[in-house]
Amino acid sequence: MATPRDHATLADRVEELLATDGPLPIVAAGDPVLRRGTERFDGQLDTALLARFVEALRVTMHAAPGVGLAAPQVGVPLRIAVIEDPAPVPDEVRLARGRVPQPFRVLVNPSYEPLGPARAAFFEGCLSVPGWQAVVARAAEVRLTGEDEHGHALDEVFGGWPARIVQHETDHLDGTLYLDRAEPRSLASNQAMAQWWTQPTPEEAAKALGFDLP
Ligand code: ZN
Repeated sequence: MATPRDHATLADRVEELLATDGPLPIVAAGDPVLRRGTERFDGQLDTALLARFVEALRVTMHAAPGVGLAAPQVGVPLRIAVIEDPAPVPDEVRLARGRVPQPFRVLVNPSYEPLGPARAAFFEGCLSVPGWQAVVARAAEVRLTGEDEHGHALDEVFGGWPARIVQHETDHLDGTLYLDRAEPRSLASNQAMAQWWTQPTPEEAAKALGFDLP
């Protein structure tokens, strides 16, 4: 059934979200906005409103804290995401996972394609699925194309942990959650992760919980 809200434009919806200062509420799994896919960004927000929206995504990602946030996660079905990873991890984790620092970036209309058959499998989580993590095998290296927030073309190769982040966030824009790609038997609560699975790689978890790694 239609409600007045259905008729609000995306710009109105974003203005409404930004009326309150501070981090935006993050939408949790089960909300259809995470599953419907998104509209390509094509000027639905003017330059000033886009800048304010991107800043709100940045503040929300930092507050969570997370290393990426996609517009549908704050209820906005636009093809926009932000990423940033200071990578505050021990050296053995940095080496095993290729988790190198990633500066703040805005991804507008991103899409990715795997480069080669190599896959990497690690635990990951999602701000929209709080409290849980699971192992996802993803392309080890991807080519990401799209634009930045100023409309400049983006065409870049990502490897290591940044490749995982851009795949996870771009998937959100297509209505895909990491759980859709995860090994179901790897699902672990944050508490179990802290107790059992702090190793740099998921090999021990794979043996103990009974799932395959690539
Ligand atoms: Zn996510």
